[in-house]
Amino acid sequence: MRRLLIAGNWKMHKTIPEALDLVRELKELVKDVNDRDILVCPPFTALYPVSRELEGSNIVLGGQNMYFEEQGAFTGEISPLMLKDAGCSYVILGHSERRHIFGETDELVNKKVLSAINHGLIPILCVGELLEERESGKTQEVVEKQVREGLKGVDGDNEFVIAYEPVWAIGTGKTATPELAEEVHLFIRQVLSDMFGSEKANSVRILYGGSVKPENAAGLLNMENIDGALVGGASLKAESFAKIVKFDMEA
Ligand code: PEP
Repeated sequence: MRRLLIAGNWKMHKTIPEALDLVRELKELVKDVNDRDILVCPPFTALYPVSRELEGSNIVLGGQNMYFEEQGAFTGEISPLMLKDAGCSYVILGHSERRHIFGETDELVNKKVLSAINHGLIPILCVGELLEERESGKTQEVVEKQVREGLKGVDGDNEFVIAYEPVWAIGTGKTATPELAEEVHLFIRQVLSDMFGSEKANSVRILYGGSVKPENAAGLLNMENIDGALVGGASLKAESFAKIVKFDMEA
């Protein structure tokens, strides 16, 4: 059985006081949840204060990006050691905003994935097609390349998470239907099976991301191969994120 993972990507939102207010409220709302993993990924400046606030709670912390080197002359970058030091156990890598706004390639994302694993962080490798790629029937080709290249050199014993995020559904209010998302998730699992064998492929969590909200969470999360969600906009309010976390529980 794969344990659900509900992750909040706060992107470039929240000052430190705002971040603390959000996690204080969230902690209270999800305090009784113990059968799934809950992750928040604040901006770098809020990581350490948020990690202090989360001590002893059922919520874990992740970074939204990192560079693959441990230290050095890399102005503006954050290393895996720094993320660990700030209390992170996960890191989002290859998010479509990193790929499309900051020009990250599969090769760079792969270096980051390997570095995260080597430093004991669980990478969440984001993959997904652009609208024109979907419309020209290239979804599988694009996603397969991102998965294979992003995970090059990764050992089957290592823990990693995949997030399928169709780029046309991120921050747009357009969500993939559960059936459409499930089709790609199943395809990703087949690619993983080809790379690592079926036992490993069946244990990897594949999250869906792209305008997940309390209203559409259950439909998506009830699909067989959707093992959680990577939530952007709806993770910025404790109430909506908690509703997604508790999509199948009594209110
Ligand atoms: C994301 O940031 O990964 C994301 C899916 O954003 P949103 O939920 O706002 O579409």
